[in-house]
Amino acid sequence: MSQYKHVLIAVDLTEESHQVIEKGKAIAERNNAKVSLIHALEPLGFAYGGDIPMDLSSIQDQLDQHARDKISELAAPLDIPENQQHILVGMPDSEIHHLAKEQDVDLIVVGSHGRHGLSLLLGSTSTGVLHGAKCDVLAVRIHKEKKS
Ligand code: AMP
Repeated sequence: MSQYKHVLIAVDLTEESHQVIEKGKAIAERNNAKVSLIHALEPLGFAYGGDIPMDLSSIQDQLDQHARDKISELAAPLDIPENQQHILVGMPDSEIHHLAKEQDVDLIVVGSHGRHGLSLLLGSTSTGVLHGAKCDVLAVRIHKEKKS
């Protein structure tokens, strides 16, 4: 059976990321594979276009720093070095595809909420990642965390 060599785990940096990381980590360990993390930051200019007549670059820098702090917290227990923690600016599915190709990733791991109704029609990141991926994609079903 072929083994995975490089597993890319996509994280939205919410609490749910732990569930996605757990599964990705277990597969990577079984395959003795390298693990990388990716988070895509949506550029503020995309969301607000030219509607807001102000320089958004310092807010973008703060968001970037916040994302770097969060991803390094997630990476620490897995011993993932900094150069395998990727914060990229753009749409999650296209950034994930781009990085996967560039880094010879052979398995992408994403979370999936198993949506239905309108949000299913609108699509999700996991669907976007699956479409157009050049390697295997594992969609980890996200379970609602029980509040204690
Ligand atoms: P969603 O479709 O937005 O509910 O997200 C499902 C999964 O897509 C998450 O569990 C992550 O694996 C991935 N994902 C969502 N947003 C991002 C993001 N900004 N960067 C990287 N991965 C993401």
